[in-house]
Amino acid sequence: MTSKPIHLVQIDAEPNVPDQGSLRPLFGLDAASLAAVMVEMGEPAWRGRQLVEALYRQRVTSLSDITTFSKQLREKLNAAGWEIGRPSIAQIFRSADGTERYLVQGSGGAGETVEAVWMPEGDGGEAGDGSLSDVATSETEQMSLTASRSRATICVSSQVGCAVNCQFCLTAKLGFQRNLSAGEIAGQVVAVLARHGVEIGRDRLNIVFMGMGEPFLNYDNFMAAVRLLVEEVGLSPQRMTVSTSGIVPGIERFAGEPAEVRPKLAISLNAPNDEVRAEVMPINRKWPIEAVLDAVRKIKLRSRERITFEYVLLGDVTDRPEHAAEVARLARRTKLPVKVNLIAWNPGPGIEYTMPASGRVEEFRAVLAAEGIPAYVRKPRGRDIFAACGQLKRTVET
Ligand code: SAH
Ligand code: SF4
Repeated sequence: MTSKPIHLVQIDAEPNVPDQGSLRPLFGLDAASLAAVMVEMGEPAWRGRQLVEALYRQRVTSLSDITTFSKQLREKLNAAGWEIGRPSIAQIFRSADGTERYLVQGSGGAGETVEAVWMPEGDGGEAGDGSLSDVATSETEQMSLTASRSRATICVSSQVGCAVNCQFCLTAKLGFQRNLSAGEIAGQVVAVLARHGVEIGRDRLNIVFMGMGEPFLNYDNFMAAVRLLVEEVGLSPQRMTVSTSGIVPGIERFAGEPAEVRPKLAISLNAPNDEVRAEVMPINRKWPIEAVLDAVRKIKLRSRERITFEYVLLGDVTDRPEHAAEVARLARRTKLPVKVNLIAWNPGPGIEYTMPASGRVEEFRAVLAAEGIPAYVRKPRGRDIFAACGQLKRTVET
């Protein structure tokens, strides 16, 4: 499969919010905590609901935009040290096909940025994970605004950098810097929804937690963000996919989450066996493939739900037809409903691997398909964006 290079063009961004020092962000608090804030202000608890509406539905960015509050109440909140504090988009890079990548900054304009991505058509996958990627859509097709709105995917980050150290990943090169808070994770989504004027309920939107970082090493904040997105923003967990490198304690906790707030799961398999996987993903020495699968088996899947195996093809290292046959055997052995998403490796500075040779990805897919394993190839767009989540920041800032 050939990929058309995407030229990212930097365009406008939201104005930098001045650093307001130690103000406490309201954004990121759940309904109960917002009600408690109102009570603390000497207001009835039901006013917390108005805050929920303003923050998560109306997407306000300033206290003065909360029209259901009197000026006096807004000033009282400010005097008590509260601000909206939603993360803002600091830089935007727009590709020719409408895909946008953002560097998102915490409230106050301080601190490191993280990367989020908006893809008007997803990557061809219904859930942004390749599940419908056999539905052809022309790369050059000019989507109308309505059509492009009807199916979009937002890719969000969960940490600044990552501690997992996968050998092929650019985010790994940043090292682990810090966890994002629930507000910083959910805030990426709400900032992007606001930018595109997305109407919940009308537009079909998928969220993938496949940006920078390992969500299951920031479990509490990640799940708190998911609950905000489901309960307050109004998104469906069945349209969310979280990707993990295979953090077993995290997967076990995830298995205990109620179906109403549990996203779908993707495992970054990336290799046909433990030996190769340990080489490209050193985390495999701690949690080998079987240990990961045992944890995955604890999840009570919804009807028709599948576990996704993500598989990055590294030239010669993991992309040979015999690797595909081994992945097919592995997939069958799991006895789980799985599908495989194939991603050609995206190169980056300082990483020694090579891209798979032309035709290798399709060949790999065909071997899997012949063995009865549903397999999808991420479109170039998806490949450039999802797989490259974390690459933008690195390439811009170094
Ligand atoms: N930390 C999580 C989620 C973020 S990485 C995880 O590893 O699953 C999201 C996906 O991008 C993973 O499947 C990862 O294997 C893949 N990826 C990372 N670097 C890549 C690269 N340079 N090219 C292609 N895919 C890459
Ligand atoms: Fe971290 Fe995922 Fe990159 Fe591995 S692939 S280093 S887990 S972000």
